[in-house]
Amino acid sequence: MNSPNVTLEPEAKLYEARKSVHPQRIDGTFRRLKWAIMIVALAVYYITPWIRWDRGPYTPNQAVLVDLANRRFYMFGIEIWPHEFYYVAGMLVMAGVGLFMVTSAVGRAWCGYACPQTVWTDLFQHVDRFVDGDRNARMRMDKAPWTARKISKRLFKWGIYLFIAFWTGGAWIMYFADAPTLVVDFWTGNAAFVAYATVGVLTATTFIFGGFMREQVCVYMCPWPRIQAAMMDEKSLQVTYKEWRGEPRGSVKKAEKQPGAFGDCIDCNQCVAVCPTGIDIREGPQIGCITCALCIDACDRVMGEVGRPRGLIDYVTSDDAEAEKAGKEVPPAWKNLLRPRVFIYFAVWAAIGLAMLFALGNRTRLDLAVQHDRNPVYVQLSSGDIRNTYTAKIRNMENRPREVEIAISGLQNATIWEGGTTRPDAQTSLRVNLPADTVAKVQLFIAAPSTAAERDEFKMTVQGVDDEAPTDTEALFFERPKE
Ligand code: SF4
Ligand code: SF4
Repeated sequence: MNSPNVTLEPEAKLYEARKSVHPQRIDGTFRRLKWAIMIVALAVYYITPWIRWDRGPYTPNQAVLVDLANRRFYMFGIEIWPHEFYYVAGMLVMAGVGLFMVTSAVGRAWCGYACPQTVWTDLFQHVDRFVDGDRNARMRMDKAPWTARKISKRLFKWGIYLFIAFWTGGAWIMYFADAPTLVVDFWTGNAAFVAYATVGVLTATTFIFGGFMREQVCVYMCPWPRIQAAMMDEKSLQVTYKEWRGEPRGSVKKAEKQPGAFGDCIDCNQCVAVCPTGIDIREGPQIGCITCALCIDACDRVMGEVGRPRGLIDYVTSDDAEAEKAGKEVPPAWKNLLRPRVFIYFAVWAAIGLAMLFALGNRTRLDLAVQHDRNPVYVQLSSGDIRNTYTAKIRNMENRPREVEIAISGLQNATIWEGGTTRPDAQTSLRVNLPADTVAKVQLFIAAPSTAAERDEFKMTVQGVDDEAPTDTEALFFERPKE
């Protein structure tokens, strides 16, 4: 009996070996947009810590500074204190909602243009091109044996990678200390250990992620491509190959020999050659596509050269793709940006921004927090009056020393005075000098006649003597013994 032919499948591999990607140089609308965003993003990142901002003599003059030692965050004219961390949380929420808005409108535009991994990978790919030449030259160089020329070129290229990576890590730490001082401290060996460690870690990660792992970070490590799939719908713009127009593929020669037998795709592979992640968009939507649209530039150029309509690869929504396939007229792609979902995201984003601006514009620059001392809750004085003790924390959020007045109201015949001073005959307010940009702790004594009431509510207010800032008020209790 003949046994049936059995074909054994090759052993499946858990991880696929990385195939080097050598994107080809391309010019076009989206490439120029990528250039512009890359230059702005890198310039903002590297230059921002060097911008100075005069806040007066008592506060740092760095425009953007995360001052961990003094627990402050400075951003141009805004100074955030630790108790105002909700502003930072608000900015993070705005960034999140903004990302949702962009993704629902234009898919993975963040990945394609503005993500740091994309920007640095793009920069490193330009270094490759500068050192080894364009795609074909780089592919030849990759396959070439390790001659002295190849080794010296590789060392030169990796040296540039390392230089970029080092400045990337170096720029990061400048956000956490006065940049000019830190540069001197860093190179003279006087910076904190954490500064060297941070630069070391960021240099290593930039060197490895941008120089070698590249698209693998997007495809295997980053969770964002998976998350954003949930934010896109049939009206989100995606880079799409119009297979109903392009298939069956055939070269210009073939198409000339058999008119009408082929679609518009001439199978030139240019869309694959320029792709920074090395994928073929003609195989449909895939996780490796970061929607950088460089394949649109490449294909539009090819279509122009062979005299066929542009847009064989284009930004299209899946709804419009279906309609176009069915031969229907579709609106211009930009009209998909004007839809309720995008407007709702924009409204939420703008509402958070406006609420934060309003809160910032109306926030008090003097802040009062008072604690009633509980041990003892009250003391009976020789005059028969009852005295309670309070600890007031007064936050002067201005970058100048201020004299403030602390006043009480709503407590009959009460007297207030500062701990360590003599009790005045009658006084419902006192003045305290506060240093600039600091929290002052003041012990306050308040005495009031003994009455049958065990507890009276009263108010304590603080106000700048120069009266420029609004008053902060706190409701408190005055305690007496049971009669
Ligand atoms: S397929 Fe096109 S849009 Fe997607 S990553 Fe490649 S070049 Fe960019
Ligand atoms: S660039 Fe355009 S014509 Fe060339 S293979 Fe890609 S889709 Fe086809």
